[in-house]
Amino acid sequence: MKLKTEKKLKLPSDQDISGRTFGEEELKAIEEVIRSGVLITTKGRYGKMLEEAFAKKLGVKYAYACSSGSAAVHAALAAINPEPGDEIVTTPITDMGAITPIIYQGAIPVFADVCPKTLNVTAETIEKALSERTRAIIVTHLFGNPCEMEDILKLAESRKIPIIEDCAQAFLAQFNGRYVGTIGAVGTFSFQQGKHMSCGEGGIVVTNDDSLARRIYLFINKAWGYGDPNPDHYFLALNYRMSELQAAVAFAQLGKLDECVKKRIEMAQLLDSMIADIDGVSSYKPKPNAVMTYWKYCLRVDDKKIRGGATGLAKALKDYDIFSIPRYIQKPAYKCRIFQEKITFGNSSYPFNLARSEVIDYNDEKFKGAIEGLSQVLVLPFNERYEKPHIQYLAISIREAVESLRL
Ligand SMILES: *Cc1c(COP(=O)(O)O)cnc(C)c1O
Repeated sequence: MKLKTEKKLKLPSDQDISGRTFGEEELKAIEEVIRSGVLITTKGRYGKMLEEAFAKKLGVKYAYACSSGSAAVHAALAAINPEPGDEIVTTPITDMGAITPIIYQGAIPVFADVCPKTLNVTAETIEKALSERTRAIIVTHLFGNPCEMEDILKLAESRKIPIIEDCAQAFLAQFNGRYVGTIGAVGTFSFQQGKHMSCGEGGIVVTNDDSLARRIYLFINKAWGYGDPNPDHYFLALNYRMSELQAAVAFAQLGKLDECVKKRIEMAQLLDSMIADIDGVSSYKPKPNAVMTYWKYCLRVDDKKIRGGATGLAKALKDYDIFSIPRYIQKPAYKCRIFQEKITFGNSSYPFNLARSEVIDYNDEKFKGAIEGLSQVLVLPFNERYEKPHIQYLAISIREAVESLRL
């Protein structure tokens, strides 16, 4: 294929420094930690500073740092403390790290379908997945686009079921003027390499609830009652702490979060405007009462208008050195072996052996929104280091690639 664009542009990547904001602030903080010789957050100052600053930024009472976004979800669930066989309603379109903690806590993930346009769960799809045994609902604000929390909150409150908001992809996203992560009972975040702010690996859990906060803190700390008059290991828990080195980097990154989010929104909106007239592709847009913070910039590709749909377009974009991901996670979570074959603890298949048979009957018919949405989505590479020329390059490349594939 002959390219009309003059020359290829290398896009910043979140997998290396070109697409990240690590710099002097992080180096200075790390140096201070190393020189102090205190690398553990139970004794150092950065872990506490990170937690206080993160809580303040979101306007919540408590924030507890931990070792990953998966650990954050695990701590949130362990705080809610489901009984073995209890059901946790969640989405089949998310990172597996948000799902496996449910199984580790002896509970059953029950998948709600998603809206094909956003790949987010909705009150309607959640309601169909609820039962007498539902102990919590986990919503994922996918790609930084908030779920419709008003309806979801109403439903959850009417059934007295706590909501965990997985905000790993949605730092500072808002719904009705409230930050996601502060709307439900607990919010969880990840600081993994590719997230809005990063320290390589890491996570944080936020809540306003005193008793959940206490259990979250304990779960991250082997349930050891630091500072109590008669401390003990109160219940089954792991060491999910982050180190002072990670906390120092995350603290410096938090100082750059506003700018990061502002830049991502600005550039995403610019790209929206530059590709708005291209027939056959549309972008993911937030509802008018929501602020989307664009972990990734996604397209919906119409395979009736564009040859090969999202997969075809991804292939064509490779000629421009634009490496996009059709189908995001390739397949809904329930199609993975862990669910298909119930591979868990030894040969027990626990906790699935406690599940109601209909919730482990993973039939595609029940997930039409997920199947349709995944077939259409194209995840473009994106981060806060994109500047106007990168966006222009993306827009021109998408336009040319689409025209070359037009049916
Ligand atoms: C990244 C991510 C996680 C897991 O975070 P880790 O830090 O990789 O464990 C969980 N949920 C979502 C939605 C994510 O994007």
